[in-house]
Amino acid sequence: MISLSLTEIADAVDGRLHGVADPSVLVTGSVEHDSRKVAEGGLFVAIAGERADGHDFAAGAIADGARAVLGTRAVDGVPTILVADPLIALGRLARAVVDRLDKLTVVAITGSQGKTSTKDLIAQICARLGPTVANQGNLNNELGYPYTVLRADESTRYLVVESSARAIGDIAYLSRIAPPRVAVVLNVGIAHMGTFGSLDNIAVAKGELIEALPAEGLAILNADDPKVSAMAPRTKARVRTVGRAEGAGLRAADVVLDAAGRASFELRGPEGAVPVRLALSGAHMVGNALSAAAVALELGMPFAELPEALGALRIASERRMDVFDRADGVTVIDDSYNANPDSMAAAIGALGAIGEGRRKLAVLGYMAELAEGELECHRRVGDQAADAGVSLLISVQDIAAPITDAAAERGVEAVNVPDQETAIDRLLGALRPGDVVLVKGSRYRTWIVADALRDAEV
Ligand code: ATP
Ligand code: MG
Repeated sequence: MISLSLTEIADAVDGRLHGVADPSVLVTGSVEHDSRKVAEGGLFVAIAGERADGHDFAAGAIADGARAVLGTRAVDGVPTILVADPLIALGRLARAVVDRLDKLTVVAITGSQGKTSTKDLIAQICARLGPTVANQGNLNNELGYPYTVLRADESTRYLVVESSARAIGDIAYLSRIAPPRVAVVLNVGIAHMGTFGSLDNIAVAKGELIEALPAEGLAILNADDPKVSAMAPRTKARVRTVGRAEGAGLRAADVVLDAAGRASFELRGPEGAVPVRLALSGAHMVGNALSAAAVALELGMPFAELPEALGALRIASERRMDVFDRADGVTVIDDSYNANPDSMAAAIGALGAIGEGRRKLAVLGYMAELAEGELECHRRVGDQAADAGVSLLISVQDIAAPITDAAAERGVEAVNVPDQETAIDRLLGALRPGDVVLVKGSRYRTWIVADALRDAEV
């Protein structure tokens, strides 16, 4: 973070100093809410969570070098900035920092899936153009967003942030903390259906990102998702559409996937046409890469540099389309970070496309938060697996059984197992050299299966 005195911080967060001997003391280190990360000169934010109360660690944070604690109650002997709500205070502090950084350009990304993957791609593009701060992993909510913003300082040129929404208003709130100048909306799909109720409400929520843009900003909208391209009238900024659709403002034409599922295409825009070869597996990564290309152009990268810049992109966050070959010739697609109907369809599409003529296997967990669409969505996955030519399909836990029920009705060898350990036994018993295996599910430790595949050899 930039250096701020305790008085400046208290002013920014509308807080009251308590137990502070010298209000002019500067916070020069990072702002942390995990006391184990507190470093010399930092600020510790005490948050009362379900499992632990940060105030219990306040004295320890000071002993470890924190200059003060931001919290809701006084702790004996601890210099504290007292506030009503530490999360809101964190957001206000982040906004105060952004207001002091006039060279900073904020690039924000939202969508129902692909935010973290695309954030990684855009962060790599920005890093070529100047000092860049991006959220680590998936830090994308009212805690992770300001936490990321607070890592920017005077040297930072680009701040790349992922904006998530569990409800209408969430993205508007995050966008007030660090107002974007460039905003990417990837897609509107089924995620957190229970809290939103409908796809239209999800579109309302995602569109808040481009409503936050200034007139001189740029909205990058997915031309291939009608609910996203329909958002254009909601922004006063310029709009650039990206996609495979004819008429997209930046277009991937003639997309072909190689044997590893990596896309090649011709990138076409008013600036010209160049061949691009991605190192990312999965047809769905084309749209993510196009968004990164549009950001690159907006920030001044010459069009002619895009083939090299896009070809160098990698997903740094783990378990998103991580494709690896084992010594025995088995190819594993570890997409086990999370799952919803669109990302399932995309990953199964990649499984179908990777390794022509090879045997395809999949271990799939359930998809969370589908509300009343749950049964139908899971059955559709079984159909997609059958269409992709999957030979052995294993679903994990009762709730995922409709996946294998539907596949079995289509003649696929399909089995539902109670837990990951049984899935691993079953899979390793069936695995042969040369197989291609997809592992995917909604968080619930599905990655244990992918890790077992990393370790074992047939
Ligand atoms: P979260 O809401 O958990 O933050 P996210 O939007 O950040 O998710 P990622 O973590 O990038 O999304 O990816 C989640 C899953 O979606 C992964 O399986 C990934 O491979 C897949 N995915 C990535 N991009 C797309 C896309 N454009 N369309 C569909 N699925 C995608
Ligand atoms: Mg994410």
